[in-house]
Amino acid sequence: MLPLLLEKLRKNRPQSIVSRSLILVVIRIGLVSLAAGAVSYFVNAYSIEDGVRRQLLLSTEQKLQRESLPFKEIKDLHLSFLREFEETYREEALKPGLLQDFNRIFYRQPDGSYVQRPGLYEGARLPDERQFSMMSATYAPDVPLTDDIRERMALSYTLGFKYGSSTKNRFFNFYGMVPEKGFSIYQPVDVAKAYTYTGSDAFKLETYEFYYRGFAARPYDTIFTSVYWDHSNNDWMTTLATPGRRGADGKSRILACVDFPLKDLMRRTAKPAIQGSKTTIFQNDPTGILIFDADHAEQIKQSQGTASIRSLALGDYYPLLDTGLKLDSGRIALVTTESEIVAVGMIPETPWIMAVHYPKALMHPAIVENLAIVIALGLITLLVEIFVIRSILQNQVAIPLARLMHAMRIVGRSGQRMDHSDLPLQAEDEIGELAREFAGMAERVQHSHEQLETLVQERTSELETSNRRLLQMSVTDELTGIANRRRFDDVLASEWKRGKRHGEELTLIMVDVDWFKDYNDRYGHQAGDICLRRVAEILKREMHRAGDLVARYGGEEFAIVAPATDAKAALKVGRELCAAVEAARIPHDKSPYSYVTVSVGVATANPAGDDSSDVILRNADQALYRAKSQGRNHVCINAEPSLPRAPAPSMAASGELDVE
Ligand code: GH3
Ligand code: MG
Ligand code: MG
Repeated sequence: MLPLLLEKLRKNRPQSIVSRSLILVVIRIGLVSLAAGAVSYFVNAYSIEDGVRRQLLLSTEQKLQRESLPFKEIKDLHLSFLREFEETYREEALKPGLLQDFNRIFYRQPDGSYVQRPGLYEGARLPDERQFSMMSATYAPDVPLTDDIRERMALSYTLGFKYGSSTKNRFFNFYGMVPEKGFSIYQPVDVAKAYTYTGSDAFKLETYEFYYRGFAARPYDTIFTSVYWDHSNNDWMTTLATPGRRGADGKSRILACVDFPLKDLMRRTAKPAIQGSKTTIFQNDPTGILIFDADHAEQIKQSQGTASIRSLALGDYYPLLDTGLKLDSGRIALVTTESEIVAVGMIPETPWIMAVHYPKALMHPAIVENLAIVIALGLITLLVEIFVIRSILQNQVAIPLARLMHAMRIVGRSGQRMDHSDLPLQAEDEIGELAREFAGMAERVQHSHEQLETLVQERTSELETSNRRLLQMSVTDELTGIANRRRFDDVLASEWKRGKRHGEELTLIMVDVDWFKDYNDRYGHQAGDICLRRVAEILKREMHRAGDLVARYGGEEFAIVAPATDAKAALKVGRELCAAVEAARIPHDKSPYSYVTVSVGVATANPAGDDSSDVILRNADQALYRAKSQGRNHVCINAEPSLPRAPAPSMAASGELDVE
């Protein structure tokens, strides 16, 4: 069961500290409760069993003492009777009186037997005023009646009355018997009326157990007969018989007897000594003849009291019988069988063994009840501990940790400034320390983050600047600072397309420095560079219209794109350029003009149609070539006819204009 639970827990291991701790609490307290339960079970089982044993011993001892009392009393009664009998019997002087008593009390019946005279039983007085009510007597002699027998019969009668009436109603009867088969009896039934005798054989006393065992016993030693069912009394009975001193023939002269009904004894025995227990009584003979056993009452009755532990094969009782047979009178032993704890003891003064059976099962409810209390206490402890630990962990650990984690997430993901008010900074424990450490760390992270951001911004703007410069560089001529050839190509292509879309004329002007090789030769290459820069500045200055582009075409050649410019305006611009360079008066010894001059080729075209921008380039180049060939410092135009507005005829015809 437990390993299964653990396996399940291992698979679905919960992630929260609180639930993990609670599971540990449950396991821990579960184990503690289990151990406590087991310990308490054994301690309880031991102490309850110990208590049962003590109680069993005590109550059994009381029972034994109590049940022995009537038998002690009977024995004492017997002894007193026998002593008085013998003392009187010994006195020779009293014998005539005894003979007289016999003659007054007894009379001879026709069959030869003797009984007490009529009326005595009912209370008739003798001549000397003595009364013997409830006394009866019989004598059925096997032998001729002698004086000795007469004296003993008379003595037995008078003493029988004395001792019988003194214990009236205590026992069933009291009688004294002479071995010659005569007896006097104190009892509620007049035996003289109950029996008629026909010859000596009618009264076979020698077949009675009390008779043959009684006279065989040692003097003053009481024997108990087997228990028998008495039909006149409708009760189980036993007879106690104690013989007196023996005569010269080796036989006792008198036997004191009491028939004892066992009804009360059995009624008391049937009542449990301890609630749930049962009591049995059996004889201390090797077979263990059963005296009382509620569970086998029917078998006992049917067997006429001869059923025994051995004859009924009551295996459970064997150890009780074995123990009982070894016990001294009044001593008690406890025998533990598979299902019972049994107190076994001899009832003092008797040959009987009493056994009080206590079923072990009776202890279980008490043990289980104690166990239930321990388990309930364990459960209550568990619940309280779960509640306490849960609230401690929840408040001291889980909630502060959750806040800390939340703050960490915020800082970790976004680098946002953290709200410290949520952190468990005040806590005195490790979590507080962790929170404070974290707050410090977050502060540092925040600071680094901001520094990094500034740095990134700086780097980004630097990068942008350098990118811009790079872009600039890619479209700018390094020497002169004006647009380069690539830029020129792009602008020409796009302006060509734009002119085509808008139906506007486009002008391209090619400018070439005259005799520049000579200039370099004369002034050096560096001066040549400076010169080129100046020319570029001049051209740039002159081309002030937005949309005009001045570019270095290559070497000492420049190209200008002027959108939406017709031939006339273009020619004017070309001339202005030419004049402006010359007007700069840059010395040039090797030029016939003494100053640096430029030749200009102008081309104006209408981009409509299928022509590419190559046309206008070629035209401008041709115009420049003509300007060179016409003496340089000169402007030529090569203009195509304008579709919407017809250009001036002079230009349209030849397509060129020469200017000095
Ligand atoms: P023309 O009047 O026919 O144009 O004669 P020219 O000497 O100007 O033409 P040519 O093509 O014979 O010579 C051009 C010279 O320009 C050759 C070259 O050394 C010079 N040149 C080209 N690019 C540069 C430059 O960037 N710097 C300098 N200093 N000289 C250059
Ligand atoms: Mg050239
Ligand atoms: Mg040139």
